[in-house]
Parts: sequence; structure tokens; C-alpha cells
Amino acid sequence: MVEFCPKCNNIMLPKGGVLKCVVCKHEEELGDANQEYALKEKIESKKQDVTVIENVDTLPTTRIECPNCGNMEAFWWLQQTRCADEPETRFYKCKKCSHTWREYD
Ligand SMILES: [Zn+2]
Ligand SMILES: [Zn+2]
Repeated sequence: MVEFCPKCNNIMLPKGGVLKCVVCKHEEELGDANQEYALKEKIESKKQDVTVIENVDTLPTTRIECPNCGNMEAFWWLQQTRCADEPETRFYKCKKCSHTWREYD
């Protein structure tokens, strides 16, 4: 991405979150609000879908087939998703391949 300074028309370079003109030091907000928004959306939807559990070793395990590798043992945990009105969703994490998925009923 190349931006030009609105004041002197020289090249502006991204620096510390802003675009800075190499000549007159004029600063412009870096970036595209849409891109930032999209990224946030992505993080949000990821958060709602599957949470990355760090200490899986402390979780209970159950016999269930991993949809990814067919292994028959997975960690499981319950998690509240979206609004509090909804029931908790059960999540599974394969002991073998670490594939994580949620239970759909
Ligand atoms: Zn300039
Ligand atoms: Zn697996």
C-alpha cells in the first residue's frame, strides 16, 4: 500500500500506527476502518465458536469419535455461548489430533 501526502504529495510510510510523510512529517491515520472491523468480527465469531482451552490435561475425557481422525477418546467441557438464555454447549477436543469441535444436537 502506497499513500501520498495530501500536503506535499510525497510518499507516506506507515510508522507506529500512522502514516507519516517522509518530507513534511504530516501524519495520517493508518488504515482502513473496514479491515479493522472485519478482523474484530473474525475474532468475535471465533470466540463464540470454539474456545482454545489451555490446560486440557485437567479436563475429563469421554468416548466419542473424532470427526477429524476417528480417534475414540476426547476431552470435553461445557461452555456458555452467545446469550445466557441458551443452554451450555459441550465442546470436545480429540486426545490424538487436538481437533476441537462442538456438540450439535
Ligand atoms: Zn508531506
Ligand atoms: Zn482426532
